[in-house]
Amino acid sequence: MRAALLAELKQPFVVEDVDLLDPTPGRVIVRTGATPFCSTDCINQRGDLGKVPPTILGHASIGVVEEVGADVTHVRVGDRVLVPGTPECGHCFYCAEGRPDQCSELFDATTYFHVAERADGAPITAAGNVGGYAERMNVTANQAFPLHTDLPNDVLSLLGCGITSGVGAVFNVAEVKPGRSVAIFGTGHLGLWMVQGAKVAGAGKIIAVEPIAWRREMAGRLGATDLVDPADGDPVEQVRALTEGRGADYALEAAGPTVAQEQVFRAARRAGTVVLTGVERLGATVTYSQTELALQGRRLLSCQNGNVRMRRDLPLFVGMLEDGRLDAAPIITARYGLDQINEALSASGEKRDLTGVIVPNGRT
Ligand SMILES: [Zn+2]
Ligand SMILES: [Zn+2]
Repeated sequence: MRAALLAELKQPFVVEDVDLLDPTPGRVIVRTGATPFCSTDCINQRGDLGKVPPTILGHASIGVVEEVGADVTHVRVGDRVLVPGTPECGHCFYCAEGRPDQCSELFDATTYFHVAERADGAPITAAGNVGGYAERMNVTANQAFPLHTDLPNDVLSLLGCGITSGVGAVFNVAEVKPGRSVAIFGTGHLGLWMVQGAKVAGAGKIIAVEPIAWRREMAGRLGATDLVDPADGDPVEQVRALTEGRGADYALEAAGPTVAQEQVFRAARRAGTVVLTGVERLGATVTYSQTELALQGRRLLSCQNGNVRMRRDLPLFVGMLEDGRLDAAPIITARYGLDQINEALSASGEKRDLTGVIVPNGRT
C-alpha cells in the first residue's frame, strides 16, 4: 500500500509503497476513507513531540474494515468505523474509572507497535496507533468504533480530532452552563469547534481571542459574540473589559503556545473554569502566579480528546452534525490526495487551512 511517511524529522513527507503487516489477534485492517491533517502533525514533523521516524502520522481517521484478526467481535469486515487516536480498551484502571481518555493502551504502552515495513524491512510505527496518512491502517479493534450515518467521510473524520477535542472540551470538561460567558483563545482547527460547542451549550457570551483576522471573522460567523484581536492590547484585559471587569466564567485554550495558556488562566474570573488543550513541544513549561493559582479558586482542567467516551458521545456528536447544530463545512478548507500531503503540511503550518483533509484513496 502507499503511505506518507515521516521518514526523517524536519523533512517533507515521503510517499512510498510499504508492506502493511497482517492483523494480529485483537487488531483490524481498515481501508482509509479520510484523515484530517491536524496541526499537531506540524509539531510532530519538527520532532517536538518525540516521534521517532519512520512513522505514519495522522492520528484520527475513518474507513471501512477490510480484515479482522482473531478475537475481534464488535466489528466485522465491511463496517464503517471511526478510528480516533485514543483507544478504549475497557478494562484498564482508567477505562474502569470512566476515563478512557487516559486509557493505558495509549499512555502506558512501553513499546511502539509496528504496523508496516519499508521495502528494506525497516519497521514503521503509526502516530496515535492510527497512521491515517496511508491507504490502509492496522489498528487495535479497541480503536475502531462503528458509525451509522450517511454523512461523508471528510466530515466524520474530524470526530477523532477537532470535533471531539473541541466540543468535548465544552461539554465534558468545562461543562459550560447556559447564559455563562466563555472566552476561547485560538479559533483555528480546534477553537472553532469550541465556539460551536459553546453556542450549542447556550453560552451567553462567546469571546473569540484570535490574532488572524479571517479566523476571527469565522468565529463570529459560527457563534462568537465578541471578537478580540490581541494586537489591540493585552487580550486578558480585553476579555475582562467584556465581562464586567471579572474575566470569563469559562476560559478555554486552543492555541498551543505556553503564553496562551498563561493568558487563558488570567482571562478566567476568580472561581472560574480554565481548560487547557494545546501542546507547544515536549518539555515546555507553563508559569502561573502562585497567589492567583492558590487563592483564587479557579478550576484548572486538562483536556485529552475532549474527555469523550466514544460509545456515549459519538451518537450525540453525529446527531448534531446531521441536524446542523455543528457545521463542518466552513472548517474543512481543503482536500488533498496522499501525494499532496506536503501541501497540507505547509498550509497547516502557515495557518492558511483550518483543516485540510487527506483522502488517501482518492475519494471522500
Ligand atoms: Zn483502557
Ligand atoms: Zn488532532
